[in-house]
Parts: sequence; C-alpha cells; structure tokens
Amino acid sequence: MLAELEVLDYKKILYYFSEISGIPHGSGNVGRIADYLEEFAKENRIRYVRDTADNVIFYKDATEGYEHFPTIILQGHMDMVCEKEADATIDFANDGLNLKTDGEWLFADKTTLGGDDGIAVAYCMAILTDDTLKHPALEMIITTDEETGMDGAKALDASSISGKYLINIDSEEENMVLCGCAGGMRVAGELPVERVLAGGSRAKVTVSGLQGGHSGVEIDKNRTNAVLFLARYLYLLREKVPFLVEDFSGGQKDNAIPREAEAMLLFPEGISAEAAEVAKGIAKEMTAEISAAEPGADIRFSPEDEVSEVPVMHPRSFEKFLFLLLQAPNGVQANSAEIPGLVESSLNLGICKMTSEGMELHWALRSSKKSYLHFLKEKLTYLIAFLGGEYSVSGEYPAWEYKEESRLRKIYTEAYREMFGILPETAIIHAGLECGILSEKIPDLDIISIGPDMKDIHTPAERLHIASAIRMYKLLENILENGGII
Ligand SMILES: [Zn+2]
Repeated sequence: MLAELEVLDYKKILYYFSEISGIPHGSGNVGRIADYLEEFAKENRIRYVRDTADNVIFYKDATEGYEHFPTIILQGHMDMVCEKEADATIDFANDGLNLKTDGEWLFADKTTLGGDDGIAVAYCMAILTDDTLKHPALEMIITTDEETGMDGAKALDASSISGKYLINIDSEEENMVLCGCAGGMRVAGELPVERVLAGGSRAKVTVSGLQGGHSGVEIDKNRTNAVLFLARYLYLLREKVPFLVEDFSGGQKDNAIPREAEAMLLFPEGISAEAAEVAKGIAKEMTAEISAAEPGADIRFSPEDEVSEVPVMHPRSFEKFLFLLLQAPNGVQANSAEIPGLVESSLNLGICKMTSEGMELHWALRSSKKSYLHFLKEKLTYLIAFLGGEYSVSGEYPAWEYKEESRLRKIYTEAYREMFGILPETAIIHAGLECGILSEKIPDLDIISIGPDMKDIHTPAERLHIASAIRMYKLLENILENGGII
C-alpha cells in the first residue's frame, strides 16, 4: 500500500482497495480475485459461499443486541473494465494496477482504476474485519462479470439470501441515491454481402472528432453516431457521384456511441475535381448542421491509389446495407411519461464492420418497460430479416422498477441528511445495474444504489475521490449502527 494512502485511510478501506488492485480482475478474468476473497474469508473465519460463477457471498451475524433488526444485504461486483492508454505496458491478464494519488483523488497509472466496483468490495472487507462496529445480520453479495453482461448476477443462486433490504454500492455520485434503472439486451445482425471485382480510383472517407459516450447515460445528449453519420454522407454522395464500396467500419463497443467510422470507396471513372468538390460540400453542410453539439466533427475525403481489381460490395448489397442504416431506429425512442427527464427507451448501433461473410452490426437496446424493449427488438430484427439478413439476441437483463414506497430509501436519505445537512438527490437511470436481476431473484426486495464520487469510469482517467469514499463508508456505518431498518 502506498505510504500516502496509509495516512489517509479509514478503517482499512484503502488498504483493502490496494490489495484488490494488486490482483488482476478484469471481467472474464476473475478466478484470482475470487480465490483471494475466499482466502480472506477463511483467514478471518467468515462464513462464505463461492458458487460456480465465482460469485462470493459473505455472511456476518448480527452483533449483540442487534439480532432483532432485519438483515441488510450489501452488494457490488468484483470485476472491472480494463482500459489503458496507448503507451501503457500493463498486461491486464497478469499484472496488478499501479495506484497513484494526488492526496485528493485515487487513480491508476495509465489505466482504469477499478474503483467501479472495487470500492464496494473494499467496503465489505473493511466491515467484515471490523470487530468494533455494531450492526444487524449482514449478507454481502460480490458478483462477477457485471461489466460484460451481468453474468455473475444472472447465475447467482440466491437461495441462501434471507435479507429483504439491499444496498447496491455501484453508483458514482455521493449525493445521488438511485432507485431504478433500465433493462436491456443486445442485438447482433448480419447482412450478406455479395462481392464483385472492380478497378478505379480509391478514396478513404473518415468521420472523426465526435464525442461518443455511454449508450445509456449519454444517449439523450445530442451526440452524433459516427457510423450513421457516415452512412448518411455516402447516401448523399451517391446521389451525385457513382462509386462502389470496398470497406466500411466504425465503433468499438455496442454500449458506446461510435466516435469514429471510415469507408474505402472506389470510383470506377476516377475522381474528378468536381467529384472531390461535391464530397467536400456535403461534408461541410453535414458538420455545420451538428456543430453546436459536436464542434469537433470532421468528415475527411482523401483520394488514395489507383487499383485495377479489388473486391467491392455489389451495388445490390450496398443498397440494402445503406437502407438498413438509414431506416433502423437509433437513439432515444421514448421519454418517460411518469418521470420527467428520464429516457424510457433507446437503442444504439455501436459496432459496424465488414467481415468475409458480410456486414456485421451490433446494437444495445434499453428500456425501463420490458414490453417496449421487446417491441424495439422486433422492429429492428424485422428490418434485418426483411433485408435478407440474420440476427441473434442476447444478454437480456430486466429493468429495476422504481417503487413509490421504499423503507430503505427513507432510512438512507434521512441518515444522509443527518450527516451532511442536505437531502441526497434520488434518480432513476437509463443504464443497467444488477439490481433488476437481483430483484427478480429475491422477492420483495427493497433496493437502493449508492456510491462515492468517481469520475470518468471505464476510461484510463478513472479516479475515486478519497474523502468521498470515506464519507460514504461512515454513512454506511452510521446506518448499520442505528440498526439499519428499524
Ligand atoms: Zn460497476
């Protein structure tokens, strides 16, 4: 543990966080962190279960005098998103993180920190090893692979869980208590691509400089989808200058709004000065249109080499592909009538790439209404199938529905007000949390989701506010010592 952290630590939170950071624990690579948690339980004589999905559940009996209070469940996930800067040398499969601090924030050198959601694990470990803290019976569920489809939570056997009050510690704003989230699923589609050989002048079109962002949280922020922007550009260009398409790709993850896309075009009759001028004009008009929301938007048309024969998409295949991109729904589809300002349903085309088979496309769909989520899926898959493509649907997870009445929320907001002098904001988010899955597995569950201040999660700039992490921990202690749910 860093000496600077030792000075700042409270009840071993940062100590345990540092321990966790030393063990590789990216999603899909959780064996070692689960081993570590198991070892920790054995060493400290803590009752625990580790299931086949490597989820670990810890149990701690109520302290004397607290036996009659209802059991409290604390919950988080042990896996983290592994992102690094281009020049970072870390091997996420085998290396731990290199923690750093400026005294206020905790971060990792050139990588994600895994504050999301290592802080929840550290909190649980600190509470489990604290002999002085008074508390009701505790159950702590530490799941695996939350970040890549919530597979741990989905596989969790909840039969040993008796608590009805669950505090999910997987949020990133201290002054926010979440009380609902959207459900979602992924749709992958593939359109067959017929190829023909052709020659001519090549030109590369690149869309860049867009902001991108999380496909749930940022879907209502007027961000432009690079793949769809490029498709529209090609549609407009094609009206004026004939060309063929050799390649087309954009986007990295289905749950991120694509920031970049590119296409390789082939002009059988060469690229005249007039054609280049037309291409430029379209780009100018399109970027001007979105300049307020996307000031960095750029469409570049760069003539390349001459080729005598390369495989390109048959115009028929291109036509269907373009039709799909222009007609498929994307972005916000409905706003909540119940909760002003909340996006109810949305979808995001996150990846598009040409393979030897065809054109592959990946969408992330979200809705707080299951029926509408399914309708969106049907709209999209109907279109894909109609155009002769194939599709698969995966990773569905349920919404966590907002409940008007929540005893836990009341207790929490009251404790928060007592400690900080203000009420926290309550919110419902258009993104996924494990709470939906858990509320399906454990009937009549009362849930809130909280967490200390973190910035830029899922990026190498991720950082955790140390004082906030300690404040939130003290708030939890406070709630437990007051008997939790009375
Ligand atoms: Zn998380």
